[in-house]
Amino acid sequence: MTGFVVTPPPQTSLPVVGTSVRFPVRRVYCVGRNYLAHVREMKGNADERDPPFFFQKPADAIVHDGGVSPYPPGTADLHHEVELVVAIAKGGRNIPVQSAHEHVYGYGVGVDLTRRDLQAVAKNKGWPWEMGKSFDHSAPIGALSPAAVVGHGSRRIRLKVNGVVRQDSTTEHMTWSVAEIIAELSKQYELHAGDVIMTGTPEGVGAVVAGDRIEAEVEGLATLTVTIGPEAT
Ligand code: MN
Repeated sequence: MTGFVVTPPPQTSLPVVGTSVRFPVRRVYCVGRNYLAHVREMKGNADERDPPFFFQKPADAIVHDGGVSPYPPGTADLHHEVELVVAIAKGGRNIPVQSAHEHVYGYGVGVDLTRRDLQAVAKNKGWPWEMGKSFDHSAPIGALSPAAVVGHGSRRIRLKVNGVVRQDSTTEHMTWSVAEIIAELSKQYELHAGDVIMTGTPEGVGAVVAGDRIEAEVEGLATLTVTIGPEAT
């Protein structure tokens, strides 16, 4: 006799550009403080080559392109952070930098929605970032493009709110490259196919409110559009 005592949750997945077959998502890892200009605007004291640190968002926090992310509870300062997203095709532990790109399925665009006021409380009290970062609907991620098609090079990264550019940089400014992030993360966790990594945000983060329309772009990848909805009741 097999089965489940309650209905199993659905498998989260992301669409892939050019095919109807989807990428199943296992975990969503995120990198903190990966663009120096953003570290500076947050008044952080991290140095340029401080080791990267990581946190996670639940896979079911993903919101798809064209979707709505309801304004989350418990905050008066919801921030956008546009980020390059890396999708892992081949897992491993202690992956060398030199071969890290062989583990990448493809790339997409994400927004690390952040309850900045709750993150500030956590920082001050030495608490985990969980409450500021890992809430429901906190991980809008667009369609993936296979690396076999788009390659691994640096790209311009931008975010607009209601058509006004808020963030405009290039992934060349990442403190830790995609290959270095994979190498470092795989020292701490065994990576698996289906893992995705949000690679940190450049400067220009700011608040959004219900009704705002966010457009997140990484040059050459599928654009992600998400609307902030009214707070769920
Ligand atoms: Mn972030």
